[in-house]
Amino acid sequence: GPFKAKIDAFMTQDTQWRAYPLVGGEKVETGQTHTVTSPYDHSETAGQIDWADAATVTKAIDLAEAAYPAWSSRPASERADCLDKTADLMEENYAELIALCHREAGKTIQDSIDEVREAVDFCRYYAQQARTNFAAPHTFTNYLGQEQSVQMTGRGVFTCISPWNFPLAIFSGQVVAALVVGNTVVAKPAEQTSLIAVRAIEMMHQAGVPTDVLHLLPGDGATVGAPITSDKRIAGLAFTGSTGTAQLINRTLAARGVAPVPVIAETGGQNAMLIDSTSLPEQVVRDAVRSAFASAGQRCSALRVMFVQEDIADRVIPMIKGAMQEQSVGLPYLHSTDVGPVIDKKAQTMLLEHIERMKVEGKLIGETALPAFADKGTYVAPAAFEIASIDQLTDEKFGPILHVVRYKAKDLDKIIDTINNSGFGLTMGVHSRNETTCARIARRARVGNLYINRDQVGAVVGVQPFGGQGLSGTGPKAGGPHYLQRFAIEKQL
Ligand code: NAD
Repeated sequence: GPFKAKIDAFMTQDTQWRAYPLVGGEKVETGQTHTVTSPYDHSETAGQIDWADAATVTKAIDLAEAAYPAWSSRPASERADCLDKTADLMEENYAELIALCHREAGKTIQDSIDEVREAVDFCRYYAQQARTNFAAPHTFTNYLGQEQSVQMTGRGVFTCISPWNFPLAIFSGQVVAALVVGNTVVAKPAEQTSLIAVRAIEMMHQAGVPTDVLHLLPGDGATVGAPITSDKRIAGLAFTGSTGTAQLINRTLAARGVAPVPVIAETGGQNAMLIDSTSLPEQVVRDAVRSAFASAGQRCSALRVMFVQEDIADRVIPMIKGAMQEQSVGLPYLHSTDVGPVIDKKAQTMLLEHIERMKVEGKLIGETALPAFADKGTYVAPAAFEIASIDQLTDEKFGPILHVVRYKAKDLDKIIDTINNSGFGLTMGVHSRNETTCARIARRARVGNLYINRDQVGAVVGVQPFGGQGLSGTGPKAGGPHYLQRFAIEKQL
């Protein structure tokens, strides 16, 4: 209907975006121009983006530093109004944002719709949280009956660095959280998905965030990420991306030799699902296949290692093979497509190498066929392997690859411990109709988010906040009631 027609208007090659770093509201033409190609067909482009150079980065931090006193002195309710207005503008411009998620990140239309919804939810939720918790001082009563008051305020210039897999929702969520508390912001989107970030920042400016308060610096880790981390004036940093990059960022921040600042890092996972013999195989297979292959496995929550109790393994494993043959890999724009492309050539090469290694070290359970046109883009055929132990996997493989391990009922605690010992702690799925088993797993597993008798996909802002522990992140959870506090300072009144 009209909804589809509106999106279609942005889908043609005639629509090309031209974007630049935004510093003090100015579009900075740096001459370092990069062409953005679509993951499903590299002969198609979505537009061009100039990356920020060193002078542009310095100017953005200078302006953000100078703008901090005025912005942090504004009432929290005024800053919250800017977030609600941003949400309105995102809703008004949904068709363009959906098209950008699709053309720049290769997301399916349904994933793109969900993504815009999540970005809007972040804006509205953090606006409401700021009005509730940051507008007036909090008063507490201590054990002697004495009253204490604290006021939450911003910290200064906040750096926000985000990944390509939720190019609108995660990017905007970090930025508006930092802003609404009273910080000024320098933001760097992932280099693969800068066009949508530019549109999001333009909407925030249009919604009333002053142009000297919020700056966008497109570029890669070396040209932009490193300087917005190493600058001594940075008062806090929000990062979502891989664990390795978070570790690098921590080292860079520490090497500044100034006071430590808060780092809110949401990082990778090695997510497991535990299936016991009381579970329902049809439901297990439906949820496991969706958890592993939705969004081409490029969700941080995605299932990587499925542990199946050996009593039902010979029923479940052939069913996984069947379900994989039934899913379809294709153009993300089509409703018939279950699995689209992966983000770029580098990701594709890494995943194909892993598949080759698993073909030797594990046993292939099944693969999903690629369409004839797959070599126009960066597609990876979804694959599932049976392996002996989670220890065969070292780092996260961010794509459509599922590993299956059999376990004996008596070894359940040991299995949970080996999962914990991976050091990651993001999501875990559990399929069991035994409530005692569910409770036992929930107690022992060191993860941020548990999904019981459902697929391991998604988070809901304000309802099911998301975030991990250990190598998977520092917390507090995005979309949760404690998130904004970490961006702020408590002033005792
Ligand atoms: P990445 O670590 O490669 O990049 C993330 C961001 O860091 C990008 O903007 C990149 O340019 C920047 N960067 C790279 N080097 C840098 C440096 N030296 N200094 C500063 N910034 C630097 O991650 P990615 O491939 O974009 O995203 C996928 C990863 O993100 C996966 O590991 C996934 O699990 C994780 N992720 C986690 C969550 C979560 O909530 N825990 C959510 C989404 C994605």
